[in-house]
Amino acid sequence: MLGRMQDWPLTVDKILDHAAINHGTREIISRSVAGPIVRTTYADIRVRARKVSEALLARGVKLGDRIGTLAWNSGDHMETWYGTMGIGSVLHTLNPRLYPEQLVWIINHAEDRMMFFDVTFLPLLEAIADKLPTVETFVMYGDDSMLPESTKLPNLISNEAFLSGMSGAGVTWGGFDENTACGLCYTSGTTGDPKGVLYSHRSNVLHSLISQHVDAMGVGASDVVLPIVPMFHANCWGLVFSLPIAGSTIVMPGAQLDGESVYELLDAEKVTYSAAVPTVWMMLAEYLEQSGKMLPHLKRVTIGGSAVPENIIRLFEGKYDVQVDHGWGMTETSPLGSYCAMSPETKDLPFEEKIKVKLKQGRALFGAELNVVDDAGRQLPRDGKSSGHLMIRGCAIAASYYKDVGGNILDENGWFDTSDVANIDRYGFMQITDRAKDVIKSGGEWISSIELENIAVGHEAVANAAVIGVAHPKWDERPLLIVQLKQDCSVAPEELLALIGQHVAKWQVPDDVVFVNEIPLGATGKINKLALRETFRDYKFPTA
Ligand code: ADP
Repeated sequence: MLGRMQDWPLTVDKILDHAAINHGTREIISRSVAGPIVRTTYADIRVRARKVSEALLARGVKLGDRIGTLAWNSGDHMETWYGTMGIGSVLHTLNPRLYPEQLVWIINHAEDRMMFFDVTFLPLLEAIADKLPTVETFVMYGDDSMLPESTKLPNLISNEAFLSGMSGAGVTWGGFDENTACGLCYTSGTTGDPKGVLYSHRSNVLHSLISQHVDAMGVGASDVVLPIVPMFHANCWGLVFSLPIAGSTIVMPGAQLDGESVYELLDAEKVTYSAAVPTVWMMLAEYLEQSGKMLPHLKRVTIGGSAVPENIIRLFEGKYDVQVDHGWGMTETSPLGSYCAMSPETKDLPFEEKIKVKLKQGRALFGAELNVVDDAGRQLPRDGKSSGHLMIRGCAIAASYYKDVGGNILDENGWFDTSDVANIDRYGFMQITDRAKDVIKSGGEWISSIELENIAVGHEAVANAAVIGVAHPKWDERPLLIVQLKQDCSVAPEELLALIGQHVAKWQVPDDVVFVNEIPLGATGKINKLALRETFRDYKFPTA
């Protein structure tokens, strides 16, 4: 017997319809790439997104066609986003921090028909345009006055010209199966070719509702939200969907993500909630320390993408009275898989104990199941100690990659191996100790690089730190601590090692410290350990 409820396909066009009808006057405020602040509303964004749809249809774009974007977070980008998805074509966000060859590979693999982009990426696209046979039209955000006098891009048009003459009135949004493809995002492919994660309308709607939980990223219509995490980084952690559901005011940061620029927006727009990777918060913290500025409006931030450093929690909660929440996820998981909100067992713990909980990546959210297994696939106890492979399955988790790259990615029970190593405690709090490929194996024991990095970053002279395993004749591998110092700061290696020795067992303390001018970061702002392992491949420990 079937239930007798209405059929209401979960397609993302309904999200913007909802926001425009119920929160129509709420603002979307963007720092444009050209500089000035641009203010629009959910109602306006919907009108223009429908014009995008009409213009795409006029150029023969069909259900399932891929439309690329190479752009920062902005209201314009949001219009392309909904205008593309509304008619069932697939929005493919590209990460401009990738190498040009990687972009060429990904655009060709996706067979993008059109490319929307910010003026800052004009030289990048001109350099690779002749290798992009599938892209018929390039649309640059802005009006005709921003177009270059001459260009190597075939069929270049400004976004305003693209939309001119359109009303959007006759466009039909939705009306297709909720499992229709909606968005495409490639993982950065540190091993092998990049892999495309193809989200569906249904998975995006469900993920938005999941991430809007009060014990997750949940915000309300009175919140002013600054999504710093880029729209090309795993759907901006779902915020471009979940904020219109809530009706929150959105502040789009554009290209400037340095401490001072982020502070300016937090202050001028009275932002109450924000989300970004740790490096962004480290840059903001440095700016606040130097300038003596405070954060009177900001109430809460979500930090994820890599492990949140302890000193960031101490600083933001202790000095600036901003609640720091830790989340975990991956492109393949839409991305939010777990969130560290307090529970009845942890909420009243003394601050020092609470910090230990906040460093964990948190509990599974409904819609995603987490499991930790050993090498043989046996479930490990939830004791907060037993570390193994972190597995996940759920309603917004990838079942396979686009065009089947990598073949079957699920085990016989439908679990996806995250390639992260983690433990889960008895209250369900999961803690990542490493990525499987970054684990340091010393004399048969595993050493967590994340834990050591976290302690090192806690030293006042340290701007960033990475720990990698380097070959050792006796122990297979030993940890090497690589440190980037803050400007005009210094510290003796012995002092750093002594600090680490206060927190971990002696055999886990790195064997040596090296200082570098800059720790290399990958395309999503995470430490590029592959590059570091390459640099220090022939490094010899004094202990070796
Ligand atoms: P990329 O490989 O391109 O960086 P993702 O952004 O999908 O792709 O990265 C997902 C990975 O990032 C996770 O598998 C995990 O290793 C790491 N990660 C994400 N959030 C956290 C976190 N809070 N703590 C530790 N690691 C994290």
